[in-house]
Amino acid sequence: MAAPRLKYFALAAVFLVLPFVAPNAFYVFFAQSLAYTAIAVIGLNLLLGLTGQMSLGHAGFYALGAYGSAILASKAGWPLWASIPAGVLVAAVGGIAVGLVARRTRGLFLAMATLAFGFIVEIAAQRWVELTGGTMGLMALPVIDFGNFRRGPTYFLWCVGLLFLVVQMGSDYVHQSASGRALLAMKESDAFAETVGINVAARRTGVFAVSALLAGLSGALFAHQSGFVGSDAFGLRLSLDLLIAAVIGGLANSNGPLLGALLVMAMAELIAPLQNVALLLRGIILVGVLMLFPEGAIGFLRLGRRKPVAGAKAASDAPPFEKVAGARLEAMGLTKRFAGVRAVTDFSLEVEPGTVHSIIGPNGAGKSTLIQMIAGLHAADEGTLRIDGADVTRMPAHRRARLGLARTFQNLQLIGALSVLENVLLGIGRRPGLPLADFFRWLSSHDYEGEERERALSILTYLGIAHLAALRPAELSYGHRKLLEIARTIAQRPRLMLLDEPIAGLNSAEAREIAEVVRRLRAAGVTILLIEHNMEFVMSVSDRITVLDYGRKIAEGLPQQIRSDPKVIEAYLGKEAAP
Ligand code: ADP
Ligand code: MG
Repeated sequence: MAAPRLKYFALAAVFLVLPFVAPNAFYVFFAQSLAYTAIAVIGLNLLLGLTGQMSLGHAGFYALGAYGSAILASKAGWPLWASIPAGVLVAAVGGIAVGLVARRTRGLFLAMATLAFGFIVEIAAQRWVELTGGTMGLMALPVIDFGNFRRGPTYFLWCVGLLFLVVQMGSDYVHQSASGRALLAMKESDAFAETVGINVAARRTGVFAVSALLAGLSGALFAHQSGFVGSDAFGLRLSLDLLIAAVIGGLANSNGPLLGALLVMAMAELIAPLQNVALLLRGIILVGVLMLFPEGAIGFLRLGRRKPVAGAKAASDAPPFEKVAGARLEAMGLTKRFAGVRAVTDFSLEVEPGTVHSIIGPNGAGKSTLIQMIAGLHAADEGTLRIDGADVTRMPAHRRARLGLARTFQNLQLIGALSVLENVLLGIGRRPGLPLADFFRWLSSHDYEGEERERALSILTYLGIAHLAALRPAELSYGHRKLLEIARTIAQRPRLMLLDEPIAGLNSAEAREIAEVVRRLRAAGVTILLIEHNMEFVMSVSDRITVLDYGRKIAEGLPQQIRSDPKVIEAYLGKEAAP
């Protein structure tokens, strides 16, 4: 996708020209405030819109940035070029601290935790008078005017406008790249995100820190706009305004924050006379907007809608597999209990590289639990797992994924907010290298991720669903969704694939297609561990079969041996059927 450069030039032009055409100083002041407020709202948009984490305490980070810089500049005499970054850093450190708490939580608990954080900062600002000046505040702070009193406001506008543009570009990049897809995946399911190689805990903390950093930057700019900060400015009302701006603008959209900030600032002017009920009005507006326009004003205006991502060039029909060195999987004595129920007991298994090894067994035998343990989503209570001889028993799921382990889920895992093609891109992940280098590639390239999209499309072409690339998963038939999951795992360039009931719910033509794909993957060298109920399918693709019953291995061997094993027949069909 070509970077939307026109937008940046247009915004830059507005900032440049405004001071010369504005009828009075208020317009310049309003534009300054809009630019730095939008920076904070962008941070909240990344947090809430992409990772789904709610913060009711962003005023706290804003205050840390504002006081950090104000105190260093006024009491320690630091120059602004040092005090502002220092204030921003303080906010980011606060963000990491709260982010570590936020790492594994969402929803109500996180809302309460951030609310509490916001109150703590607000109360500290009021009571720690020697440092903050309390409600009287800190006065005569240096302002950003580059030593020119008359032209000061113009310079400040340019400065804050430039910062806004950089932040906006960063946000656009995240929304349009692998990072944004990863965050959307986490928003839907942590466990799924881990299985495509995303370190969920680290990302959550990281996004929280970035969000806090942007709020801190916004606060620091505020402090040096008017030259005054007082504790009244950093209450719940500000947190709510930022949140309303993020929601009102449109959460899933990178253009939402600027529009949302504009609407909220206009609203604040309008309801300013209604001091007593201002907080209540904010609550009502927030709930109202959420109910009426879940997509926000951007969605309402249909501005900058996410375009479905279709393929750039026609993909070749050649199968999109490269030869790989399949992984060797060894399990020794694996045991897993759920509240006393033994799901898997003392289970051992060896899967040779480049073979298809199936696990069969009645419902509740422990097959899915076994897959979860191998993928790293359930910790084994006992036993050892090795991949290519290396002990991975305690390795987190995202690191196993990076070793070349890919899987499908018994109950499909696709990301509804992403197109079919983007779901495949999720499997490809991001290119190795520094994020900053990738940002510049995005900024300068007309065909950013062209290679990745071409590869994703060739996988979809191979599976016969390339014509669906621009649709959302929900618009696909069940069979096509199953194929899409396989497409995503192929995109991961797996060396070991775990397929949990890949043909359940498919018709026989679709099942034959999947059988063919499984054989092609094996031919390419991939090791495949397969769970399936359909015996015909299992017999036709497997090199070896292990039978599980009540969490224990009861038989193992070649397909023809398993077919005639009396223990297996008994487990499957009951005692009467056994010879
Ligand atoms: P299969 O995939 O072979 O049908 P599962 O691995 O899903 O079997 O389940 C094996 C046993 O473990 C079942 O008795 C099931 O009820 C139990 N089980 C599976 N997952 C959980 C869980 N998360 N919590 C509690 N019990 C579970
Ligand atoms: Mg199962």
